[in-house]
Amino acid sequence: MSSKILDAFLNDGIQDLKDRGMYNTIDPVEGANGPVIKIDGKSLINLSSNNYLGLATDERLKKVAKEAVDTHGVGAGAVRTINGTLDLHLELEKKIAEFKGTEAAISYQSGFNCNMAAISAIMNKEDAILSDELNHASIIDGCRLSRAKIIRFNHSDMDDLRKKAKEAVESGQYKKIMVITDGVFSMDGDIAKLPEIVEIAEEFDLITYVDDAHGSGVLGKGAGTVKHFGLQDKVDLQMGTLSKAIGVIGGYVAGKQNLIDWLKVSSRPFLFSTAVSPADAAASRKAIELLMESTELHDKLWDNGNYLKAGLQKLGFDIGESETPITPCIIGDEKKAQAFSKRLFEEGVYAKSIVFPTVPRGTARVRNMPTAAHTKEMLDDALKIYEKVGKEMDII
Ligand code: PMP
Repeated sequence: MSSKILDAFLNDGIQDLKDRGMYNTIDPVEGANGPVIKIDGKSLINLSSNNYLGLATDERLKKVAKEAVDTHGVGAGAVRTINGTLDLHLELEKKIAEFKGTEAAISYQSGFNCNMAAISAIMNKEDAILSDELNHASIIDGCRLSRAKIIRFNHSDMDDLRKKAKEAVESGQYKKIMVITDGVFSMDGDIAKLPEIVEIAEEFDLITYVDDAHGSGVLGKGAGTVKHFGLQDKVDLQMGTLSKAIGVIGGYVAGKQNLIDWLKVSSRPFLFSTAVSPADAAASRKAIELLMESTELHDKLWDNGNYLKAGLQKLGFDIGESETPITPCIIGDEKKAQAFSKRLFEEGVYAKSIVFPTVPRGTARVRNMPTAAHTKEMLDDALKIYEKVGKEMDII
């Protein structure tokens, strides 16, 4: 017999989300998540993936992944600290450190896991964390897990950060204080003001942590937001994911050797959860090698991003203030944004609507993520559909 209390909790919770228009449905992709996808048998131009460089379906990555399966099998076999650290994991971590320009790196099973792991291994209840109000959910959860005092500062507001850093230091209540920010904010495509953040951190001796999930592969000729600003020596923890531009799965922190040594003995997902598979580790390493060898994919991503942005702007869409290829089309009203995304789907474009609480009320949008794998023809087709549906719905 199942629990009545659980049933009531689940059914009420689901109904409540449905009533508030917040019950997410999932659209399973039939086949690979490339620039064109198939959903429900329908072909759609895909403007919703984080596969920025198209590497998720790259033949060179597929080849090394298959070879790794042949030489190492399909699983790591144990947690890293027992005997699940394979040569492939160490090679990957060495490559990440080279890529990021740091002494060392540690990898985790996902970017989400990595934030949970690293923040809570460094910070504890005697500490405080200054966190941008728009930071990703995994940062918020990592901060909560650490039990440090969480002090949110207004989004990219450096006066607010300075004021709160000063107050925290002067209170004398905290042993360590960290400032943590996304490198690129995924809903608007804006870039963190890292030079100012680093300056404030130096003034108040703050630990600096940058989540570069959306900056790696995209900024700094591929090496990320920290490199973009030339701040490799000034950021203590450069966190990133292997699941977006890199195209595979996993997360990492790059930094000084003592930081990585500490994380290897104290971050719980590293100690107690099995590492990514050999194929994942090998494919991720290959992707980073490719990025270090050539900026071709990076350049193509920017070219496509600029092309789509210019096209949407010319049509009269409000594309916000993005500084990266992430291109929102701000609609405003929640229901209208959802209806717009649905009509785009019917016409052949997959671009998800993003509504409150992910973005503030009244700024609902359809978010476009062009990639290096899109052709200009695909983007032109998408723009034609945007024009048709935008006019039909009185958006442009
Ligand atoms: N940080 C940010 C800023 C992200 O956008 C995401 C993914 N949405 C993550 C961390 C988590 O990364 P992963 O998907 O590799 O778990």
